[in-house]
Amino acid sequence: MASYDRIAKLSLDRGFYFPSSEIYSDSMAGFWEYGPNGNNLKNKFIELWRRELVRRDDMIEIDGSQIMSKNVFVASGHIDNFSDPVIVCSKCKSTLRADKFIFDKTRINVPEGASNNEVDEVLNQNNLKCPTCGSSFQPTERFNMMFKVGIGPRNEEAYLRPETCQAIFVDFKRIFKIMRGKLPFSIAQVGKSFRNEIAPRQSLLRLREFYQAEIEVFCNPNELDSLSKFDEIKDTILTINDGSEVFKLTAKEAIENKIIPNKLIAYYLSILNEFYEKTGIDMNQTRFRKLSDKEKAFYATIAFDFELKTSVGWLELVACNYRSNYDLDQHSKISKEKMEITDPVTNEKVLPHVFELSLGIDRSIYSVLESSFFDDHENDRVILKLKPYLAPILAGILPLVKKPELGDIAKNIYHDLKKDFDMYYDESGSIGRRYRRLEEIGVPFAITVDYDTLEDKTVTVRYRDTMQQKRIKMKDLKSFFVENKDP
Ligand SMILES: [Zn+2]
Repeated sequence: MASYDRIAKLSLDRGFYFPSSEIYSDSMAGFWEYGPNGNNLKNKFIELWRRELVRRDDMIEIDGSQIMSKNVFVASGHIDNFSDPVIVCSKCKSTLRADKFIFDKTRINVPEGASNNEVDEVLNQNNLKCPTCGSSFQPTERFNMMFKVGIGPRNEEAYLRPETCQAIFVDFKRIFKIMRGKLPFSIAQVGKSFRNEIAPRQSLLRLREFYQAEIEVFCNPNELDSLSKFDEIKDTILTINDGSEVFKLTAKEAIENKIIPNKLIAYYLSILNEFYEKTGIDMNQTRFRKLSDKEKAFYATIAFDFELKTSVGWLELVACNYRSNYDLDQHSKISKEKMEITDPVTNEKVLPHVFELSLGIDRSIYSVLESSFFDDHENDRVILKLKPYLAPILAGILPLVKKPELGDIAKNIYHDLKKDFDMYYDESGSIGRRYRRLEEIGVPFAITVDYDTLEDKTVTVRYRDTMQQKRIKMKDLKSFFVENKDP
């Protein structure tokens, strides 16, 4: 497995991602840009998510506002609860995020739900002092992580959304009606969220502006075990850490052994698992970790984190939360709009419960890069073994040498194929160097036009991972790529 540093260097050098505002001295931590290769990879990752989750489960996808009114976050609880513990040095006023500082010094995990007093207790018990001047800290305080914005000339209070899903809750009733929904009814959304992290770090792993792909499954709480499509996934193998033990078992066994509480949750964890299998990350290094009461977010009653073991430790990629009717109930109370619907299947009037899959896109992109990074010492090359459907570019078109008679044919192939696929034309440098450049950004195929092409209208297709080559007819290239580009 590649180290974090090698992925960071590759990303800078090859345009996957790099710091925002980087030419300015006041550039801020926690903001990153996707370059051309990273942006293509991200878009393809989202397309795979749509294919394997949204379309597979007949979900509805929306695109809501990034700025929402204050009352939305009064109702959601973020105004009161969405905060991190902060400690300030009593002497030099250094400000630190308490849980991170404690973990770095002692490896003790302060749970998300810990009170200020409990944080103070851990600091005292471990005799932790200001790392700058050695003085003790003031009592722990709370810092709200939402970005406040002022709207219009009177600066009315509003917020950048700290999670994409609030629009889904606020819009639920309208969408359910327009789409003539039936429960369970899933609404998905991809977009940016914003959190004013005290300690952003490790590029894509903890950002202040980041991408989420969220799915909210609205369901009837009395029907959680009557999900017929459960049969589709009953044999899917899941790895579950319940806090004390690790189980590797089928979705059906997880239900029978009460490791997953109901079929609805098991179904969505399973299709999520199947999606990640297709991204190429090592599923043997993943787990669904059941969170303890103290670790759960304030709105969750049951929570599993989907995690991957990376070179920087276990990384949470998806938060899978059973939010009960918390959000709809809160929005109903604060807005005075009734959020109940009639379930057309059971004819019950019901305030739906919600199970969510809240996926971090940026962390997933990092994970895909790290998982596909491969040092091929034998052949003195670095490869990203990206799946063809995730690769930023599907194929490079290369004339063997820079001669017009080969270049013209190669350019024709390029122009013909780029309408349908992401192609790259390259004629500069030795053929070996051009292969290396493609391999390093994960291009799965290279097409070489040589002197035989002039004779028999065939080209060489070279496979990135095996370096095997075969001749195919120019006219068959398009069908070759159609066959090889999809999961
Ligand atoms: Zn100090």
